[in-house]
Amino acid sequence: MKKLKLIILCLLAMVFISSCNKEEISKEITQQQEIEPTQAQLDKLSGLKIDTGNVIIQEIKMLDGSKESYFIANDLLISVSDLAKYPEPQSEASTEKQYRHPSIVAPPYRNINILGYTGGGGFALTAKMQTALSWAVANYNVLPNTLNFNLTFGTNTGAADMIVYRVNTPSAGGSAMIPNAAGQPGRFIRINAGTDAFSTNVNEHVIGHEIGHAVGLAHPGTGIWIPGTPISPSEPSIMQPSFPASADGELTPSDKVALNILY
Ligand SMILES: [Zn+2]
Repeated sequence: MKKLKLIILCLLAMVFISSCNKEEISKEITQQQEIEPTQAQLDKLSGLKIDTGNVIIQEIKMLDGSKESYFIANDLLISVSDLAKYPEPQSEASTEKQYRHPSIVAPPYRNINILGYTGGGGFALTAKMQTALSWAVANYNVLPNTLNFNLTFGTNTGAADMIVYRVNTPSAGGSAMIPNAAGQPGRFIRINAGTDAFSTNVNEHVIGHEIGHAVGLAHPGTGIWIPGTPISPSEPSIMQPSFPASADGELTPSDKVALNILY
């Protein structure tokens, strides 16, 4: 079987600062000066179960022209100013297994208005991405847990808890934020333009993966193991960081177990 490995990734699980209630969509990363994080910052990021092997700090230009500093750790992107808001890490018995970040969606925020963005600026989801988003949301909504997504398409970002939009990145994949320190779901999910060249199922997979990050799921092997789920980091999961072009976009049995345990 031909296995074209797509490096997806969530290219960033982004944690936006509290100013994310701005009604603008975040914009492409603008290269600015790179700054080394301090050891204390790396320790805090490590506590969030983020791979700290290659972390830099960069300024990102937002759509409204403002700039915010972010830690960039491979496919994860964490607001510098938000980092201190997270509690200090607790000691965990199992820290090297799958599969969640310490922050998950708090009970008041589990009815999630998710918006498929169709506005201008090059941020509109393609028709294929919109279909894939509806499939991915349905996969989550069918689960018998307390998470519920209300999907709409349009431009009313102010009414949305989670906004899915396209970014002009040629590779396949996407990026997302993990839940913030207040327990709100990751607000922005960015789907790379290159994903549209693949099947609707692959688009469903990428979006489902990013939604997973936005509700706190981590890449297997990098998060906190969820008791009751398979402990192997190689367990099939939509949260694996790479996937074949034949991906069917569905949540695996262990994904469903993990979500139903968490929520
Ligand atoms: Zn990811």
